[in-house]
Amino acid sequence: MSKSSSSDNFSHLKRNDREVYNILKKELNREHNTLELIASENFASYATLEMTGSVLTNKYAEGYPGARYYGGCEHVDEVENLAIERAKELFGCEYVNVQPHSGSQANMAVFLTFLNQNDTILGMDLAHGGHLTHGSKVNFSGQLYNAAAYQVDKDTGRVDFKSLKNMAREIKPKILICGASAYPREVEFSNFREIANDVGAFLMADIAHTSGLVAAGVHPSPMQYCDVVTSTTHKTLRGPRGGIIMMPKDFENTWGAIAPKSGRIKMVSELLNSSVMPGVQGGPLMHVIGAKAVAFKEALYPSFKQYAKNIVSNAKSLAQSLIEKDYNLVTGGTDTHVMLIDLTNKDISGKQAEKSLEQAGINLNKNMVPFDKRSPFVTSGIRIGTPAITTRGMGNQEMSIIADLIDRVINNPDDNKVISKVKKEVNDLCDAFPVYDEFHN
Ligand SMILES: *Cc1c(COP(=O)(O)O)cnc(C)c1O
Repeated sequence: MSKSSSSDNFSHLKRNDREVYNILKKELNREHNTLELIASENFASYATLEMTGSVLTNKYAEGYPGARYYGGCEHVDEVENLAIERAKELFGCEYVNVQPHSGSQANMAVFLTFLNQNDTILGMDLAHGGHLTHGSKVNFSGQLYNAAAYQVDKDTGRVDFKSLKNMAREIKPKILICGASAYPREVEFSNFREIANDVGAFLMADIAHTSGLVAAGVHPSPMQYCDVVTSTTHKTLRGPRGGIIMMPKDFENTWGAIAPKSGRIKMVSELLNSSVMPGVQGGPLMHVIGAKAVAFKEALYPSFKQYAKNIVSNAKSLAQSLIEKDYNLVTGGTDTHVMLIDLTNKDISGKQAEKSLEQAGINLNKNMVPFDKRSPFVTSGIRIGTPAITTRGMGNQEMSIIADLIDRVINNPDDNKVISKVKKEVNDLCDAFPVYDEFHN
């Protein structure tokens, strides 16, 4: 507890705004003292944090490198070009836009480019692992477009390609979306490509969750199969909070969604760039784009490949330990950083499990399981991910300890003695694996 003193790093903040400084310190302590098992979270490197907290936050740079609406952009041009070049190398693609403020805005810009209002999109059901931006009614994607959803097979928990094929033939989507937020298995891009070809749809991969694994080559790459790929940069990729859009190959817009007024058929890259800015965004977050460049470089190092391998190996070993304790994993395990656990046989809701575990210093989220009978606010499951604890350096040995800690809380969700005992053990484990050495001086 006492370890996370951050006096050196935030001296100005401490002097100028004690109130906010104290909140920051509490958050730093929380991140140090809890086991972060939320599958979409990670700890960005100190260098990434430095860039995110830099003077690049001061610069207005609407437009793109070499063609900005403002003067004084020579240095931010350089850093944006660097981010783009590094992302191209990292993912092996021809086009990258590093400006989206988030994964959701990356998806919004793609839809704005490829779709007209009320066009049909087909994505994975939110309750089966999909994302809000893949067609949920509470999101723009389900409100501006005619959204349909495919599901997983009831027995295997994996994408049901047979029913997906029939559905695609029936509704003829303009875009088919693959990739999800709570799907523990590899996304089989080639199967999606076949279906997209069959019905003449664009294929979009949203690798928000897996992009770090894809970059490291421990999950198949969508580049060979998809027309357009979006991602966040802050999940397994371990960069600053933000989004990116990629295309394996640029191509001409000949489908007529946007008529070539100039008499010249535009490249899709031009349309995507205009969709991001001015389509859905104004000034880019240059400090975040700079930090994306930093994170992409980190992801190009061999040590990042090892990190990504460790994420998956930790997930597999945590999954195995939980299975041995009679937990039901959707699909029976994981190929990735994430696992989805159906708690029905443990007689506890996802909501209650999340709450009791949080009291014990273990953070994860309640999650619908496929064909869940409970509401999204209660749920029958939890989602667990290993990216953040792997960044702390935890390995297979710690995974079996963590499975035990989780199990004790889930079996005694209202027992304060058990919860305090587990919390103490969580703190000891966290102390052995500090998050930021830089903040513990
Ligand atoms: C997290 C996520 C997003 C959205 O990212 P935000 O940065 O939170 O907007 C989009 N798609 C998928 C599949 C995700 O998991």
